[in-house]
Amino acid sequence: MSVLARILENNRSFAATGARTKVPEIPFIPNEQLYVITCIDPRVDPAVTLGVDLGDAIVARNVGGRVTAAVLQDLAWISYLHETRTPDAEWFELLVIHHTDCGSGLLADPGLRHDFAQRGFDEQQLAAMPVLDPAETVRADVAKLVAAPQISRQIALTGFSYDLKTGLLSEVVLPAH
Ligand SMILES: [Zn+2]
Repeated sequence: MSVLARILENNRSFAATGARTKVPEIPFIPNEQLYVITCIDPRVDPAVTLGVDLGDAIVARNVGGRVTAAVLQDLAWISYLHETRTPDAEWFELLVIHHTDCGSGLLADPGLRHDFAQRGFDEQQLAAMPVLDPAETVRADVAKLVAAPQISRQIALTGFSYDLKTGLLSEVVLPAH
């Protein structure tokens, strides 16, 4: 069976269960009031590593799990909806998770970065992407969220480093916020 055929079969099996009905409606509050920013690496899928089920959390993923302009815009939008549509609900917890052995680290190689940038990307921006020390980059990215004027001060921010070898999260000490 091809991968696509198997995926479609999985989807039909899923649709036959009641799981799809256990999700909140718009304007929604995720079941676990959680917002996770993490890497696209399939080895760190929060559905498995954190047990995040359907409807539980907003999960934003990009290379490295970095706080980029696009990530900030989405978070500001969700914050705005929260303030204006569900003002009485509790605020969500925001987790930023970077991990060891991250593929974004390859961008620390100037030659590789330069060659890739020739495909129409900004070399300086690429230079800011590598996660070499997850604790360090998580601290920097949470600081960026703390400093962003569009992000509500009421969101509880926590930064974690995820170790691929042990499968465990370690909380990173963050700047005061
Ligand atoms: Zn990664």
